[in-house]
Amino acid sequence: MTQESRRGLGTLGPVRRIVCRGQGKWFCERCVTRYQEGPGDCPRCIDEPLLNLDVGAVRELLEELDANRARQRWGQAMGASAAIVIVVLIANGLFGTQTLRGSARFGAVAMGGLAMLLVGLFPPQQRNPLAK
Ligand SMILES: [Zn+2]
Repeated sequence: MTQESRRGLGTLGPVRRIVCRGQGKWFCERCVTRYQEGPGDCPRCIDEPLLNLDVGAVRELLEELDANRARQRWGQAMGASAAIVIVVLIANGLFGTQTLRGSARFGAVAMGGLAMLLVGLFPPQQRNPLAK
């Protein structure tokens, strides 16, 4: 894993940890289950290969998948927040009564807070069984 993505993992924000079932070094990312027997496809999922947790590249991949889910969720939250804040600004007529700069400042703060609230309410999944 690159240094950058490792640093990024510290700032995923809230996550909903999916509890991993089973034991063993073979892991299915879809059903979040560990198996003793591998390699091959997951016995429960169709076309889902089991991943060897002993392999460094696999561990990096699992961290990356969690990070991608988190980034995607933050993007969705920011998009929803922007839409809500713009509607509120227009509804309150702030564009007319306040300075544009004041509205922009309010909008930025409200958007950030709203996005954090949304990610807190709907946190991304953390499926990596090795995540701390
Ligand atoms: Zn599976």
